[in-house]
Amino acid sequence: MKAILTLNGGSATLKVALFEAAAPHRRLGDGMIERFGVGPRLRLRAPGLADRAQDWAKGEGPTDAQAAFHALWPALKARHSELEIVSVGHRIVHGGADHAGPCLIDEAVLTGLKRLSPLAPLHQPANLAVLEAAQQDLPKAGHVACFDTAFHQGRAFETEAFALPRHFYEEGVRRYGFHGLSYASVLERLRHERPDLAMGKIVIAHLGSGCSLCALDQGRSVATTMGFSALDGIPMGTRPGAIDPGVLLYLMTDRGMDAKAIEDLLYRRSGLLGLSGLSADVRDLEASDQPQAKQALDYFCSRVAVGIAAMAGELGGLDGVIFTAGIGENSSHIRHDISQRLAWLGAGSRLALCVIPTDEEGQIAVQTAEVCGL
Ligand code: ADP
Repeated sequence: MKAILTLNGGSATLKVALFEAAAPHRRLGDGMIERFGVGPRLRLRAPGLADRAQDWAKGEGPTDAQAAFHALWPALKARHSELEIVSVGHRIVHGGADHAGPCLIDEAVLTGLKRLSPLAPLHQPANLAVLEAAQQDLPKAGHVACFDTAFHQGRAFETEAFALPRHFYEEGVRRYGFHGLSYASVLERLRHERPDLAMGKIVIAHLGSGCSLCALDQGRSVATTMGFSALDGIPMGTRPGAIDPGVLLYLMTDRGMDAKAIEDLLYRRSGLLGLSGLSADVRDLEASDQPQAKQALDYFCSRVAVGIAAMAGELGGLDGVIFTAGIGENSSHIRHDISQRLAWLGAGSRLALCVIPTDEEGQIAVQTAEVCGL
């Protein structure tokens, strides 16, 4: 049977999945390796096959996304030897201004994507490292780039631009927005389950390791909280979300922090982890009795609620809020807290609140099938 392989490699996780080429909504199996370098874990699942798991000790096993691909792909392939991989769909976080949709990857596309790495230093190099490994291993398959930024293309100038001198906008310094594959997958499910909401004014809250909000009107992204990089907007596991740029100037001039140190602070040491001093994981914070854990969660819920209210302002109204991703799907405490803060907007009465699981891999498969004409 002909199949599509999807690859989604991040800084700490690689997710792979197989879909039937002729029916790209049909998932044939999947797997992941998480926690690179700190006791990685491999998991494989497929209907009709026993789950397979492997745990490495701390300091052993894959330490990055490319090493994870080399550990995971042979194991997955061995379980699905009947499949012929005709296309590989890659999640690529940043497509820049050039890519308004998925595309086949050639040398020129790859060179352009490499140039965008500084804009998403946690994700883009990992995405591209997996891509190069997969191209070597599957040279005959068509490789397709599916972008997180593409979903947000075509928004109004005032939601895309920064109020900087105009030439910066022309040179690409603008709000791109991310998590587009997740938003597209949630929207597709909403169209089936709640077509009324899918065509209304809604906010999708993608609350996972990375977090962002997207305001949609009639199924189109009109505003989103992430901007030029994946740092802006609401707080996240280890990223602060919006921050007064004056703080960064102060850290550079008075505290002698250089760009590398600030990058580390903003991508890896802030957010829920920084505020709590305990963990980036909402499960740990919910289980903790430390006051800093509660404060970090309160901060998170407050900023998300304020962000949703701002999105309602962009939309000129709000019919519903849809929660998705690790925190959005699993933490009823967080959802409840945010909705209470939005009671004044009609949450709990007029405003619909729902949970829809994200399926980035499924979205990559559908886009890949389209590009390859499967
Ligand atoms: P990503 O795919 O970006 O790595 P996820 O969407 O899987 O992230 O979200 C990961 C986060 O989801 C975890 O860090 C954790 O905070 C949160 N999470 C997962 N399960 C639960 C749960 N049962 N309760 C609360 N939070 C959860």
